[in-house]
Amino acid sequence: MSRTPLIAGNWKMNLNHLEAINLVQKLAFSLTAKDFDAVEVAVLPPFTDLRSVQTLVDGDKLQIAYGAQDLSRHDAGAYTGEISGTMLAKLGCTYVLVGHSERRQYHGEDEVVCNAKVKAAYRHSITPILCVGEGLPVRQAGEQVAHTLAQLDGALEGITAEQAKSLVVAYEPVWAIGTGEVATPADAQEVCGAIRTRLAELYDGEVAAAVRILYGGSVKSDNIAGIMAQPDVDGALVGGASLDPGEFVKISRFGE
Ligand code: PEP
Repeated sequence: MSRTPLIAGNWKMNLNHLEAINLVQKLAFSLTAKDFDAVEVAVLPPFTDLRSVQTLVDGDKLQIAYGAQDLSRHDAGAYTGEISGTMLAKLGCTYVLVGHSERRQYHGEDEVVCNAKVKAAYRHSITPILCVGEGLPVRQAGEQVAHTLAQLDGALEGITAEQAKSLVVAYEPVWAIGTGEVATPADAQEVCGAIRTRLAELYDGEVAAAVRILYGGSVKSDNIAGIMAQPDVDGALVGGASLDPGEFVKISRFGE
């Protein structure tokens, strides 16, 4: 089965809605139909930018997909400050990040929370981009595969094969996020390959072959080619470099 590569830009807490419009316009100006034959490109702006991005994408019929960086596990109610899948679906979001390491680290999100958020995303037909990956001490102990697979197992508890087929998993070693310390292509393949094998065990070969597995962690235009050459890597989750339109376009072309 051939999987369409996905390059997704996680803007984190950067860019107001006017700056968001500016960046998406620049991407739309540079990316061509030929690019979109080879890759799917998505942006993941802060919540406050989503309505502007939706208006631009819908109005100009852009092929750029978009989504959010988080969602509530609840659909509505007395959860001050939270944003629900219902609201994100209404804004046309295709994707939502779940369990980004910064959510895990600063908001204490564990497997139970991630599992509830994956379910919330599916309830609203939004594709979760489930982020998993080890910190430095785990890597130094050589436990990266076991650690990452445990995160995957926990987050997918109760998710059906039919749902899992559309899942996106982002393997993001925490020590490589925002540090300039990129994993080697072999490091990325080791864990991404193990994730695919586990998906076959949890579900079946069809699901394992369908799920897109991204690598994330200091991806730039000069290291994306080696990462994309790995058989189990289907794209990248890009943080810092996604704020630079020229660089993000180059990454979307796998460095060419
Ligand atoms: C991220 O935020 O998911 C990420 C991978 O960041 P960076 O590319 O800046 O390392």
